Amino acid sequence: MKKVLQEAYTYAKQWMGQGKVADYIPELAKADPNHLSICITDLGGYTHCIGDSKIHFTIQSIAKIIILATALKSVGFEEVFSRVGMEPTGDSFNSIVRLETMHSYKPFNPMINAGAISVTSCIPGKSPGERFEKILYNARLLLGNQELTYDEHVFYSESKTGGRNRALAYMMNDGKVLLGNVEEHLEVYFKACSLRVTCEEISYFGAILANNGISPRTGKMIIEPFQVKVIRSLMTTCGMYDASGEFAICVGIPSKSGVGGGIMGAVPNRMGIGVYSPALDAKGNSYCGIKAMEFLSHALELSIF
Ligand code: GLU
Repeated sequence: MKKVLQEAYTYAKQWMGQGKVADYIPELAKADPNHLSICITDLGGYTHCIGDSKIHFTIQSIAKIIILATALKSVGFEEVFSRVGMEPTGDSFNSIVRLETMHSYKPFNPMINAGAISVTSCIPGKSPGERFEKILYNARLLLGNQELTYDEHVFYSESKTGGRNRALAYMMNDGKVLLGNVEEHLEVYFKACSLRVTCEEISYFGAILANNGISPRTGKMIIEPFQVKVIRSLMTTCGMYDASGEFAICVGIPSKSGVGGGIMGAVPNRMGIGVYSPALDAKGNSYCGIKAMEFLSHALELSIF
């Protein structure tokens, strides 16, 4: 494992300098584009790492999985999927175009921003704080860190500048898909995206999904197997934005990426993978991260297809 991680790291590092750190959330622009780490958590619960594996970054869209898991636990499959679809879009993660042109304001899937905001609105609670606590509770279990919290600077930075997400949310509210207080839903969503994680932690998260919802460290079930099936299916079809098709062919691992530069992969019954490198390609996926995943997939024959 050590050897293959070293090889994947050396291979991915060749693309260092390509891509760009996200700056549409101003605080994210501070990330160092030269960071790279790759971690694998095996189903014995052991995590193997190389590179900057203890650097903290914000989880961003990988939180969409935690939001979905929390909503599925809270209100169940039927209710969640009455508010969001299950189909890939082929559009970028924050695209607004289909909300209007499909003559229904129901977003296509939980892995795009509109869909994740809609799923967030399903999580019940008396206040945004109480609703976020439910997400945080699951995040701490899924990332194996009881101290996990969110990055206030990134949260405020996105709250101040999140015009596109506000537009999506108010449009869904106008279409009666997103009910209740729009600003409160956005607060919960932005906080979830700002969770502070490490590459090691996201590989452990991947290992729980790879292990059908059971923690490989504690043996406890964190997510029910049916919900894991739903989540892994959506990761495969929609997890890498509008590059999900190409990623399925070139890598073939159910994965979710975030604009913070992380990618979490779950290889069913084999392992969880975390990669982190904040410079992104044109579609918003970590440039070196994708290269590392490609290498690992070929070297260890990880494609599910
Ligand atoms: N917080 C980010 C947003 O809503 C997440 C996007 C992403 O990682 O794809 O724009």
